[in-house]
Amino acid sequence: MRKSKVLILVLALILMVTSIVFAAPNENAAGAFDRRITARVDGERALEHIRVLSEDIGPRVAGTEEEWMAANYIKDQFEKLGYPTEIQEVPISNVRSNLIITTLGNMELRVNTATGSGYTDSDGITAEIIPAGLGNSPEDFPAEVEGNIALVQRGDAPFAQKAENAVNAGAVGVIIYNNAAGSINPTLGTYSSPVPVVAITLADGSLLIDELQEQEVVATIKAEHLTKSWNVVATSTPKNQKKATDQIVHVSAHYDSVPFAPGANDNGSGTAMMLELARILKGQNIDKEVRFLAAGAEEIGLVGSRYYVNQLTEDEINRSLANFNMDMIATSWEPASYMYINTVDGQPNIVSESAVAAGARHGNDTYYLNAGGSSDHVPFHQAGIAAANFIRREPDTGRLEPWYHTPADTIENNISLERLQEAGEIIGSALFDVLRKDTPNLEKSRIRMSDEALAPFFIKGDQQ
Ligand SMILES: [Zn+2]
Repeated sequence: MRKSKVLILVLALILMVTSIVFAAPNENAAGAFDRRITARVDGERALEHIRVLSEDIGPRVAGTEEEWMAANYIKDQFEKLGYPTEIQEVPISNVRSNLIITTLGNMELRVNTATGSGYTDSDGITAEIIPAGLGNSPEDFPAEVEGNIALVQRGDAPFAQKAENAVNAGAVGVIIYNNAAGSINPTLGTYSSPVPVVAITLADGSLLIDELQEQEVVATIKAEHLTKSWNVVATSTPKNQKKATDQIVHVSAHYDSVPFAPGANDNGSGTAMMLELARILKGQNIDKEVRFLAAGAEEIGLVGSRYYVNQLTEDEINRSLANFNMDMIATSWEPASYMYINTVDGQPNIVSESAVAAGARHGNDTYYLNAGGSSDHVPFHQAGIAAANFIRREPDTGRLEPWYHTPADTIENNISLERLQEAGEIIGSALFDVLRKDTPNLEKSRIRMSDEALAPFFIKGDQQ
């Protein structure tokens, strides 16, 4: 080859490289790619899934018949879309209780079962309720507690200490009532109680205390041990295997709820939008494997997603590029104007970057990187997979809507169709940015923005 020819080649090469590096984001191209998602996201369709989950089925507590019904509904939806889908059985240990005050006309009180509670047979236990103050020391428990149900108030000591004192005093059940308005979800930490431990409101506790001044009060506690939950896993393999990468992207959302909560926003919203994005992605040119995980048993400690991640082989983990997790994306509570993109360590990753960039392309700077755990992205992160959770919160304070984990988490109170639609468009665009085969190398993609352009969006939040 002649020298001048080599020179021309080198110059051409330099020109090519610099044009890639210095190209401004091509907004028309970005718009065209995003529109494949945004033009198709149908918030109404997603809302219909939320309606089935939160209204037709209702609260979907881990291990219950309702959780099983929801799992099957989700499986049917994926199968209608043509995805091979399986239900993965997840071993759990969850206790669901009810409390009936026999002496008050079999009045049923709303209870939350403590994590770490013991359980009963199907007859439950029936005994007298004996008040034991705060129950923080053994002296708080009168001798009559032996063989009966101890009633203690929240405050000044861990729930576990109260429960353990009651058990040592011979109680066959423990009722903890709140010391402030609202419900409590007690956890006993490392203490595993041999007897049921349930929590009630301050109002119900006060009612019992008043009643106990007049007469003996007898109650029945039934605490059912639930041992199985279910993940629903749908898989999309790239059609053109030759051109496909071997990477896997996991999209996840939990579909279970806490007791008594219809879980419209937590997490009918994320589950529904996952189904909607699965519908849209069906027709797109994707060169990666997508696994959709509708996780069970999130509310009792991320049990479903942890099980799912533990079942991945080392090879699958190595091929895992990202986890997009949606949990509570559509509250209508006005102050929750930001979508927090929570990564466990607060560091940006491919999920947060693509989402912040997608937000920026949509002129939306409320998609905000933050440090946060407490959802199904955590087990993915712990396995070394880039993961982030999407959750609507109030900026600065990070507060959640007041209906969180209550019977008021309904479509009527707690779902904004507009925000549901927006989440689908932005998270969907980000997901497609990572999945599509048109721009296999994200770093060279003109669709993404430069790090510099994105820098203002990466404000680090409080470490909780
Ligand atoms: Zn949740």
